[in-house]
Amino acid sequence: MDYEFRVIVEKVSVSSQKVVKRDTLKIYDIQKPESILEFGLRHAEQISLLSKIQSALLAEQSILIDSGHTQCPKCGGKLSKLGFMESQFHAVFSDHQVRMQKHKCKNPECNWQGTPTTITVFGTDIHPDLVKLQCEQGAVQSYRDAEEHLEKLNCQRRRVNNHVQIQRVTNQVGERVSQFNLNPPNPDELPVAARELIVQVDGGHIATQEQDKRSFEALSGIVYRPNCLVVIDEHHRQITNKSCTICTLDDRLATMKLYLHHAAIKQGLTAETHVTALADGASNCWSVILALEPHCQSLEPILDWFHIGQKFQNVKNALGETLAESLESVKWNLWHGKANESIQGLTMLRDKITDKKQRSKLKGLQEYLENNRNFLVNYDERKQAGKVFTSQVAECHIDSIINARHKRKQKMQWTREGAHNVLQIRAMIASNEWEENWLDFVLPDAVLAA
Ligand SMILES: [Zn+2]
Repeated sequence: MDYEFRVIVEKVSVSSQKVVKRDTLKIYDIQKPESILEFGLRHAEQISLLSKIQSALLAEQSILIDSGHTQCPKCGGKLSKLGFMESQFHAVFSDHQVRMQKHKCKNPECNWQGTPTTITVFGTDIHPDLVKLQCEQGAVQSYRDAEEHLEKLNCQRRRVNNHVQIQRVTNQVGERVSQFNLNPPNPDELPVAARELIVQVDGGHIATQEQDKRSFEALSGIVYRPNCLVVIDEHHRQITNKSCTICTLDDRLATMKLYLHHAAIKQGLTAETHVTALADGASNCWSVILALEPHCQSLEPILDWFHIGQKFQNVKNALGETLAESLESVKWNLWHGKANESIQGLTMLRDKITDKKQRSKLKGLQEYLENNRNFLVNYDERKQAGKVFTSQVAECHIDSIINARHKRKQKMQWTREGAHNVLQIRAMIASNEWEENWLDFVLPDAVLAA
């Protein structure tokens, strides 16, 4: 080995270019790599080197941090320096101790001391980039999975990435997003007015730790322009631009209605817009959708064919093959907009059956269609005209927003507020708004003292 490789940091005077301080952070051997493994630095070594560079820079920056006091804030007396205060700082990949100048009042009767820390100066000891990572990980998987993932990314276990900490941070940031979503969207950032919008509202259930209940409902809504629904192939469609919104609060749908309205505005809703709205038939979904009516030119609520299909399949499984054909003709009528014939057909079908369980299944389907009578349309006609009639695509999105995070094998028992907060981040990520806006929610309110 003829050479070694030194990583050196220098502190240099900008005006004179004179090096005032030089430190060797690390020396590596320069050797021929025997395998790809020895080619360059390995993962843990990269993190370790980064940490050393970071420490050197933080030391230089920390001495510049001043409390801003030129005199004693208590008595107005003169101040003297009183050594340094050590505090924690958690950068994105490494943890550090930083030292900040302490001050003391010279007046012996006052005895005031200024002891700055990262928290008193910046309002937090965690860099926003790390908070962002924690929120993103905590929003898409369980907090324990997030902890494990960050540990792998970081090549080391860090207390700051503990699942309890991730939960705390995610909840805090999610709460800010939740509050922000209550405000109407910024008029300067709105797209051109939409002539037509598609809205889909759906519900899901989340396991709870609240007393006497096993679960509570989460409502989710998606708004997009018809031309953003792109056909990829026969079975795959994609919504290229959408606003997602989600709510688990128990406030008679007030927040959900507001959120959905704001999501629609973000997609270009005006008083001239025609809105087509799909839902699975649950009355709270219709309530949320109908709240859009005063804000648009016309609203066309449609019982989602995807859910109708599921209900029919469910009944078909219970009835067996013998009545499959009759049931199929009921469905055919419904598909062609003949709702009355369809419902009558179900009554006739029921009269033919003696089995209690099968009758009850048919009754359930009939009631479902009757309850949603006003939202049944000619599905065949809509399909021919290339108009939307099923939510199958966004159904996946809604599933992925609620279920991926909240219906995992490790049973996490949520509170309504806890679930609501974390889902706000998830909805924002799904709407492609997180990358642009995360700093507004992650940055603490306190800023660097002057
Ligand atoms: Zn004083």
